[in-house]
Amino acid sequence: VAAIVFALLLPSLMAIGLNSGDAEPGSAEYLTLIQGRASYWLIPLEMGGEVFLRVLKMLVVPLVMSSVMSGILGLGDVRKLGRPGLAAVVYYLSTTVLAVIAGLILVNVMSPGVDSMDQSSLAQVDSKGESVKARLYATLAEDIGVKDHDVAEALNDNEYLQDEERGIGEILENLVLMMFTDNLFDSAVNTNLLPLIVFSLVFAGLLTTMGSRVSLVTDLIHQINSALMAFILLIMKFAPLGIFCLVAARFGEANVSGTFFLELKRTWGYTITVLLGLGVHAFLTLPVLLWVFTRRNPYKFMLQMSQAILTAFSTASSSATLPVTMESAVDEAGVSRRSVDFVLPLGATINMDGTALYEAVAAIFIAQVVGADLSLTQQIIVAVTATLAAIGAAGIPEAGLVTMVIVLTAVGLPVQYMTLILSVDWFLDRFRTAVNVFGDACGAAIVETAFVEPNSVEPAIEPEQASQ
Ligand code: ASP
Repeated sequence: VAAIVFALLLPSLMAIGLNSGDAEPGSAEYLTLIQGRASYWLIPLEMGGEVFLRVLKMLVVPLVMSSVMSGILGLGDVRKLGRPGLAAVVYYLSTTVLAVIAGLILVNVMSPGVDSMDQSSLAQVDSKGESVKARLYATLAEDIGVKDHDVAEALNDNEYLQDEERGIGEILENLVLMMFTDNLFDSAVNTNLLPLIVFSLVFAGLLTTMGSRVSLVTDLIHQINSALMAFILLIMKFAPLGIFCLVAARFGEANVSGTFFLELKRTWGYTITVLLGLGVHAFLTLPVLLWVFTRRNPYKFMLQMSQAILTAFSTASSSATLPVTMESAVDEAGVSRRSVDFVLPLGATINMDGTALYEAVAAIFIAQVVGADLSLTQQIIVAVTATLAAIGAAGIPEAGLVTMVIVLTAVGLPVQYMTLILSVDWFLDRFRTAVNVFGDACGAAIVETAFVEPNSVEPAIEPEQASQ
């Protein structure tokens, strides 16, 4: 927390220091001057943040595969997966729907989009509308850290961005297809986690039925998993520094460019509605569920998960945060490894409560701005597609922005109006990612209760013990 607070203060302090007044504030000359000076301290921060991010991302693919496999192997008998498996899926879906409902209620009550925009900013949208895809490419390119043309290519392949209307059937078909790959290595290279998880589940499930013939493979998987965990412990020692660098560099950049606060002011109502919705979900809905199912003190649990939540805030990526989420859930919050290994990798990929909430709020906000009166049926379509869009969104920065096209086109809203919310998206992304990660962690704690057989007094067996 101290790292984040300091990171937020630093850019402002630096801005004061940088403002030596030898050029007219606001002039082009002034901006060049400020940016030139800022780069001295932005560069080391950016580099530190980037190193932290790379190391986390580097571990994600091996970690997802080894932890899911080792989780399944630890169960002993795959048929036992039925109950926790069902519990996990019910948890993922129901919490996402609860988040969407909270968002819908808030955005309808607060109506941030009604009469919020003056004509000049709407005219601006229309003129900028044509370039909304270009801006999306640029945003993603910046955040994912890939070259512009790669993103453009990836997005051109992405059917969601071909502005035609899509039925829910088609969206579902796409989601099912996302689970399967024709090339495991290709999925690993592109960090497509879902097909890797499906493969790992089936592969490890089969191993459990093959007995001692495969004990070498089984042991290897457990050992690799333990070694990766040790690696993560090492990284965690540097987490505060990494978090500090990422946040200071990003907020510093926003401060330096100077337009962020103007944009924030313009979309104030929308921003507040999303943040309030996320707050309700994180501080009310999830805590109540956690307490009802596990009798854990939810706010203590939140503190125990704080390292993961702060990493989510600073990386804006559930996938990159996954190593930290797993580590905190086991070591700080004491959730059993079998539940963590099983619930968290899948959760980081498909369970995105914050994203679903934001998608619903943004869609209704845009409807309000353009003066479209959405009927109850259309609001339900928004709820369903926002849920699906969140499941389909990858755990990477601003992925929700890309899948929001699904929601908008499903109810016939103009995609170019996304321009209105684009400039504050990187900021809101951090909050929704933090909520996504906290939702996953609550899921691991809640599903843990499904692992214990009813009427059983035996403690849960840790995979390490089970393999011995
Ligand atoms: N950045 C989010 C995550 O990784 C996804 C999104 O909403 O853009 O969880």
